[in-house]
Amino acid sequence: MQRSAGVAIYDQQSEQITIRLSWDAYEAYGWEQFSRVVRHELIHAWQYHEYSKADHGSTFKQWVEPLETDRHCEQYAEPNYWVICEECGSRDPRYRRSKVVKQPEKYSCGRCGGAISIEYV
Ligand SMILES: [Zn+2]
Ligand SMILES: [Zn+2]
Repeated sequence: MQRSAGVAIYDQQSEQITIRLSWDAYEAYGWEQFSRVVRHELIHAWQYHEYSKADHGSTFKQWVEPLETDRHCEQYAEPNYWVICEECGSRDPRYRRSKVVKQPEKYSCGRCGGAISIEYV
């Protein structure tokens, strides 16, 4: 298992920028959280393109809020909530108090349409 969920790689010779994302992390995070990682790495790719280097300094910071991402590279984190389907038993991790976590009765399982409940970790 890769340690980071995503990484932006810059090849100085070809000036080629590559973003590698971890499938394991995607499955562990769920899309909501993983999309933050994608945007984080896209900022690094942009930094490489503009400045030939990437960091978490001021050029990074200006994008954190507009892109709704995190300043620090995400490591695998334990979710704070699990969305659990009472029908098929599927478990979907959540990291913040999203709409689903607040009002699970308004939502249903994405796989089978069953009722969902929230488990607080
Ligand atoms: Zn980073
Ligand atoms: Zn289900």
